[in-house]
Amino acid sequence: MSMGLIRESVERMTGYVPGEQPKGGDIIKLNTNENPYPPSPKVAEALRRIDVDSLRKYPDPVSASLRERVAQMHGCGVDNVFVGNGADEILALCTRAFVENDGSVGYFDPSYSLYPVLSDIRDVCKCAVPLDSDFGWQRPADDLCSLFFLTNPNAPTSMLFAKSDVESFCAGFKGVVLIDEAYVDFSSENCMDLALKYENVLVMRTLSKSYSLASLRVGYIVGHPKPVEALIKIKDSYNLDGVAQVLALAALNDVDYMRANAERIIATRESLAAELRDAGFAVCPSESNFLWVRPPQKISAEDLFEKLKDKGILIRYFSDAVINQYVRITVGTDAEVSALMQAVRLIIESGK
Ligand code: PMP
Repeated sequence: MSMGLIRESVERMTGYVPGEQPKGGDIIKLNTNENPYPPSPKVAEALRRIDVDSLRKYPDPVSASLRERVAQMHGCGVDNVFVGNGADEILALCTRAFVENDGSVGYFDPSYSLYPVLSDIRDVCKCAVPLDSDFGWQRPADDLCSLFFLTNPNAPTSMLFAKSDVESFCAGFKGVVLIDEAYVDFSSENCMDLALKYENVLVMRTLSKSYSLASLRVGYIVGHPKPVEALIKIKDSYNLDGVAQVLALAALNDVDYMRANAERIIATRESLAAELRDAGFAVCPSESNFLWVRPPQKISAEDLFEKLKDKGILIRYFSDAVINQYVRITVGTDAEVSALMQAVRLIIESGK
């Protein structure tokens, strides 16, 4: 394409690279933190009950029923709740609503690799605050960002930052802090109450992981009515389609089912972590539905990733410096993780 048609900053930037989604086949897929169990039967029932004729009409532009349910779940008002077409849409909207053109977006490094991409799309400064070598908390030196994405539990490290640290950071921060709790249902602590205590704090959740609905694209945030109103003002008119609104509501009406699956995943996570430690891996203490592990000396992270792929098992490897010695493994079913461990042991023992 000739020069000038595309914004210079867009020409320059690199887009987000999602994990592989192979078509069909006999693949054990432990690379994108999806839930190995199906969504609630109540979601299936709601899907069956959808009348195709209803698709003629536009959906509710403000997703009122869904927001009411979220408000009820978290003991807040509907005006405290925003729902988005996946949590990713909400993150993008936040970079548009809360960051001036000369402002900046902050986040820890490593954390979710979409944050720098969203900052690049806005063409604003990025403030990547390095974590220490154990991926632990260091108070960000730069409190001047307009917006800070704080992932808790963090990804890809799987670890939880102490709530007291998160709260003291929020209390001292002048801009908006978005606490990204995509994985919080697998964790022992959450920061939802901070969203209702501080005007500058938003807490974000997604239905993609614990509710097994990654394909539906629904996420939400809870926060002060002012930032919520700003997001409503700038969103697409019908950001959540009608089918998604109905199915998400059905899922959120069956929290018990989600909890039971999350508990199963937590139990599998703990046994997988123990087995990997036995096999010589360094395993970070996970409060998520995935593990962040460094393979034993014998084999590099990249090699392990490639060899498992040859055996039809997909995990996630990031080539960036600092994190390229680790791999991220989504916790699957017991059968999937036992196949993984069998393959891992074979690779370590025989190199194949
Ligand atoms: N935040 C984090 C930390 C994530 O890992 C993900 C999933 N890739 C998201 C947000 C986005 O979730 P959603 O599927 O709702 O867009």
